[in-house]
Amino acid sequence: MTSQLLALDEVSVSFGGLAALKDVSLKLNAGEIVGLIGPNGAGKSTLFNAISGLVNPTGEISLFDHKISWPKPHELAQLGISRTLQGVGLFNDLSVLENVMIGASKFAKGGLISATLGFDKGHEAELKERALNALAWVDCRHYADREVESLPYPITKRIAIARALVSEPKILLLDEPAGGLGSEDIAWLNQFIKDISRKSAVLIVEHHMDVVMSICNRIYVLNFGEVIASGTPQEV
Ligand code: ADP
Ligand code: MG
Repeated sequence: MTSQLLALDEVSVSFGGLAALKDVSLKLNAGEIVGLIGPNGAGKSTLFNAISGLVNPTGEISLFDHKISWPKPHELAQLGISRTLQGVGLFNDLSVLENVMIGASKFAKGGLISATLGFDKGHEAELKERALNALAWVDCRHYADREVESLPYPITKRIAIARALVSEPKILLLDEPAGGLGSEDIAWLNQFIKDISRKSAVLIVEHHMDVVMSICNRIYVLNFGEVIASGTPQEV
């Protein structure tokens, strides 16, 4: 029996008169990498925004086979969901380590501010250790003390992934992780996503068809907010 982590049922989102998503249903099971593809403006990022509480959807969401109310952004980490943003979305004037520690805030018992500002040395050390580990997963531990601004783009993409993974999510949403990367970084990313999918099931938006075709178990194709095809990469 497969273990269903995430299910969306007939999800719709509109912005004024524009229907960005129309009755989209999809499932993500444990261990899976599921691709979400389609042209610009199809509604892919909006689907991630719906799951992350950044827009107001209609329809239903279930986590771990239980219907829940739509998550608020601050509830995501506790619910076992993490995402990366299209682009990079790090804080340029913070260090790499601080950026990743922000992703670990669900572990900060006295609150993130108190832990990161050093009011609570015990928790600060724990968050730091978690963040350093997450940086090691993406081969970037040696960048911990650097400012994000000073780093090459492909490295910042990896750090954004570390920030998403540091909360140890069951569900990882990746929005165009290969965007702007060259072939070597893409090869690394393919292998990395395959490896982490054993712990965190992955829903990935990606334009690089070679990535989607080589790592996804299943794919959904969105066009004008609607699922127009779904199945294995071969079927699609
Ligand atoms: P994709 O990620 O597939 O390229 P998006 O989900 O970003 O597409 O956008 C889907 C549609 O919704 C587009 O027409 C876009 O302009 C519109 N849209 C997305 N976010 C907003 C928003 N916050 N306000 C108004 N329109 C939006
Ligand atoms: Mg997008």
